[in-house]
Amino acid sequence: MKIFGDYHTHTYFSDGRGGIGENIAAASRRGLEAVAISDHGFNNPRAFSLTRKKAAKQAEIIEKERSRYHDLRIYHAIEADIIGTDGETDMRSGDLEAFDFMLAGFHRFAKPKNAGAFFDMYVPAYVHKIIRPSKSVIKRNTLAFCRMIRRFPVAVVAHINDMVITDVKEVAMAAADYGVYLEINMKHLAVMRRALDGIMATNVKLLANTDAHTPEYVGDFSALDAFVKECPEIVPRIANAVLGEIKFRKSI
Ligand SMILES: [Zn+2]
Ligand SMILES: [Zn+2]
Repeated sequence: MKIFGDYHTHTYFSDGRGGIGENIAAASRRGLEAVAISDHGFNNPRAFSLTRKKAAKQAEIIEKERSRYHDLRIYHAIEADIIGTDGETDMRSGDLEAFDFMLAGFHRFAKPKNAGAFFDMYVPAYVHKIIRPSKSVIKRNTLAFCRMIRRFPVAVVAHINDMVITDVKEVAMAAADYGVYLEINMKHLAVMRRALDGIMATNVKLLANTDAHTPEYVGDFSALDAFVKECPEIVPRIANAVLGEIKFRKSI
């Protein structure tokens, strides 16, 4: 199916392999109308994350690229990290001013807020495939994501239930309340399938993204075809399956 924008791509400014210009050129070649450069947030290991200085450099490059592509909307985004059970992220007040919007998700290498976050959220995430998270862990994770949505100007929740297991329906309800998109991440379609009933019971809007870490993969939504054949009811929820500008939340 045709998806018109890819709002989650990485470059060598974090752990991606291509440059900003390469991702943008790839998006243009695929005929997208929008692409976002969204490298990893500040609490990841320095070599694989943005710093505030690197973000400023990105902004310069993106500004130049914008003048070269008139039929492509180019966004400067950041994929921030949830780092605490209180919904804390690694975005400080004012950080979002450097970006067009923020995605946020859990990343295992991002420095946790404190020891409590490490033991209560990170450890169950690390072992979630071996030890099924208990009801209380799921409840705590769900609250953490809902609090993050309330406390931070998150526009897109990235790859929900990748490692940190939540009650997706609850998170989707909070997301819908605040105009936040839930992501259909091409690398985590199985998670989406499992959560589908919960999602469809809410009014949440979805955004399909590749999470490309190489330019070749930018705008490659081929995996979505089989998925929507299985779950066609999801199609009207996918905001970037229709042409037109996506309105991203920028404040709380
Ligand atoms: Zn991610
Ligand atoms: Zn990502």
